[in-house]
Order: sequence, then structure tokens, then C-alpha cells
Amino acid sequence: MRIGVLGAGISGLSIARLLKDDFEVEVLEKESVIGGIARTRDVNGMAYHVNGGHCFDSKYNDVKDFVFNEVLPKDNWNFITRKAEVLFRDTWINYPIEFSIKDIDKIDSDLAFNITKEMFEASYEKGANLEEWFINHFGPTLAKEYFIPYNTKIWQIPPREMDNVWICDEKQMKLPVPTKKTFYDSLLDRGADSMVHRNFYYPKTNNQNTFIEAIGNGVKIITDYNVSSIVKEGNTWIVNGEKKYDILINTTPLDLIPTLINNIPENILSFFKKLKFNRVTNILWETDGSLDFTWGYIPDPKIGFHRISNTGAIVRPVSNFCTTEVIGNVSYDKLLSEGKKISFLKNPIDYNVTEHAYVHFDLNYMESKKKTITYLDSIGLISHGRFGEWEYYNMDVCIKRSIDLAKRLKEQYL
Ligand SMILES: Cc1cc2nc3c(=O)[nH]c(=O)nc-3n(C[C@H](O)[C@H](O)[C@H](O)COP(=O)(O)OP(=O)(O)OC[C@H]3O[C@@H](n4cnc5c(N)ncnc54)[C@H](O)[C@@H]3O)c2cc1C
Repeated sequence: MRIGVLGAGISGLSIARLLKDDFEVEVLEKESVIGGIARTRDVNGMAYHVNGGHCFDSKYNDVKDFVFNEVLPKDNWNFITRKAEVLFRDTWINYPIEFSIKDIDKIDSDLAFNITKEMFEASYEKGANLEEWFINHFGPTLAKEYFIPYNTKIWQIPPREMDNVWICDEKQMKLPVPTKKTFYDSLLDRGADSMVHRNFYYPKTNNQNTFIEAIGNGVKIITDYNVSSIVKEGNTWIVNGEKKYDILINTTPLDLIPTLINNIPENILSFFKKLKFNRVTNILWETDGSLDFTWGYIPDPKIGFHRISNTGAIVRPVSNFCTTEVIGNVSYDKLLSEGKKISFLKNPIDYNVTEHAYVHFDLNYMESKKKTITYLDSIGLISHGRFGEWEYYNMDVCIKRSIDLAKRLKEQYL
């Protein structure tokens, strides 16, 4: 049985790797290199995360078993403790911000008191939109001071116009919420936070591409192959009029499927058109070396960047480079002037704009995603991965989805 996989990002590579011993599997990738948005560009020995800083961790044991037992053994990874910070009213304080009441107290004691009071009053109700979710979980003051401005920056629309589904879904980049007890413990400097990526792994080669290449080991991948048409004839999928498969797994962006498949009914096409996403622009910088955090968040709307990924603090030995991330296709010149607002950014080295970076959770999201995926299910096309499923998946969740999908296909066809 022949399986075609469209796209050699983490999702395409991992599903192909998991199926290759039992099926005839082929991956078609439009770029000349594999890895999709997780890939780095080697710039003078620096791993430039062109689409934004990445690190690997997982709460799923089967993902860790696969990665460390089958892909890249654990002794090939450095285990690193996160040191994340938030630029809060011009001062860098520890992340997660709700555990930094003492730092906030030094900046504004009344503010710290109000946040504390409201954290204990939190209702934890889901609310009707993302803004209400923040208020109900962190109180109106911290929502206004941090969560709303930061999320307005990364999503480019006000959280009140966003669905809160991604933040509640276990598979997504779920935002962990402290309980009242863990919040109380944090006030007394007791206990550690349990946020995503509190600790994480990074390849000892100092480049994430080592991990990517290792997933692709032994997989048949055709690079420089742009998929431009998909047709189903009987039970056979035909790609670009030439390649034939019994099963087809798509990991390319869902919103572009109408450019590949003809005759999608008009009422379904309108839902494909409603799928929205954000681009991201990243600059690689040489720093002055004063930066010791692994990454930092910037809620201030007056500063163009929303996040700084200090990959220089993740590699060994540590080095003086980082990337700044901003949502949208932003010009190089504009970002140079934004860089002047941050003292430790010295020289820009490289620049990149990513087309599909973040799925957009506007209020059309749920219905559009459901209608489009249900349609693809009805024609038997499996859509998989961050943009194939139109979800906020991290690399480990892409791999988890591949493990689950491979199991399902083996049960069905072997
Ligand atoms: C800024 C940012 C930071 C992130 N940080 C982290 C992190 O720290 N940790 C973490 O685990 N995850 C992180 N992620 C998420 C991670 O990047 C994704 O979960 C993962 O890379 C998605 O892989 P994918 O294979 O599903 O999609 P993609 O990487 O998008 O792969 C799709 C592939 O399809 C190919 N393709 C598209 N169209 C065609 C076509 N017509 N023909 C052939 N091929 C085609 C593309 O070239 C690409 O290779 C981050 C994401 C972003 C944007």
C-alpha cells in the first residue's frame, strides 16, 4: 500500500517515519530542505530560528520514548532550565508574571496588592471570549497590565474578538493557570511553576536541525517538489498528475487546499476562505552579551517586538546572538529602528518573513475549521499537523498526533 505525505515539516516527517516500515511511504516537500517552520538557517555557525525560537519538550511519554529511543538518543541533548522574563513597565521581571508579585511590588505596590487580591478571587469560568478568559483566571488588573496587551500584540486583534478554544484545549499551547494554592506558595517563594517548557531539550550540536534530520532518517523524501494538484480517481490519489497513492496525508496549510483540489462545493469554499493566519518576521541579532534569559516577552505596544528568543543562552558554550519576533510582514528598516529601543541588541545579522506562522483564532475559527476538515474527511484526505489541522500545535503535539495517526492507520490497514 502506497502512502503519500505532503510536506516535510515535523508532522510529515514524523508520520512518514512511523509508517515507513509497514507501508511504501513517500514525502513530497516543496522546499530544498526539510523541517518546515521548525528549521533553522545556519548563519556563521549560529542556529538562526528563522521562524522564531524553538525548543523541545513534551508532557507525553510516548512522544519522549519515540524521540529519545528512536530518533535522537538522550545523550545527544542538553537539558536546559528555562529562564524567561517579561519586560514589565521597563523592568525585566521573571516569567510567569503571576508568580512575580514581589517584583511587581517593587515597581508599584498598590498594583501588586490588587493583582494578589484578584488572583484569590478568580472564578476560573471559561467566559465568552479570550479577554473574559484572562479576566476570569488572572483578575482584571493583571489581564489589563499583561495578558490583554501581550495577546493583542501576538494575535493582532483584541482578545475580546478571539475564541478562547485554543487556550482551553489540552492539545494546544494551553496556558497553565496556577491554582490559588500554588499562587499562595509563590508569594512565599515556595514551590516551582509547572509551565510548559520549564525545562527543555536542545541538541548538543547547538542546532535544532540535528533533531529534524534525525526524524527524517530512513524516510523517502523528495525535496524541491511543489504539490500543485490533487485528484482522486476511484480509490487512488493522483498528485501533480503523476504520483499515485492509496492513502494521502496532507500537512500543507489547510487554507491553500482549494488551490490543490478542484470542484470543492461553493458552500465549503466559503469556509476555507474564512481560515485566517498570522505571518511572523524575525531578525537575528548580535547582542552585547548582557542577556542571560532564555527568552523574554514584551507586552508594551510601543516596542515592535513581542518576543526575544535568546538562542545564544541555549547553546553551549553560551554565545551572543538572539532573534526578535514580530507578527506580520514587517520591513527590515522598521525592525532596525525598533531594535534601537532595546539596549542589548547590537547588530542585525539576518532577516526572515514566515508566511504561515500562527493559526488565527478569530470568532469564525471553530466553524470554519470544522466544516473544512469534515469536508476533507468526506473525500478521504487525511489532513494532519499544525496547519493541516489548523491548530496551535507545538512540535511535540505534531509528533503525538503522528503517533496516534500511525496507530490508527496500522490498525485499519495491516
Ligand atoms: C514563532 C514560533 C515559535 C515556536 N516555538 C516552538 C517551540 O519552542 N517548541 C515547539 O515544540 N514548537 C514550537 N513552535 C511550533 C512548531 O514550529 C510547529 O509545531 C511545527 O514545526 C509544525 O510542523 P508541521 O509539519 O505541522 O508544519 P510545517 O512546519 O508548516 O510543515 C509543512 C511543510 O509543508 C511544506 N509545503 C507547504 N506547501 C507545500 C506544497 N504545495 N508542496 C509541497 N510541500 C509543501 C512546507 O514547506 C513545510 O515543510 C513554534 C512555532 C512558531 C511559529
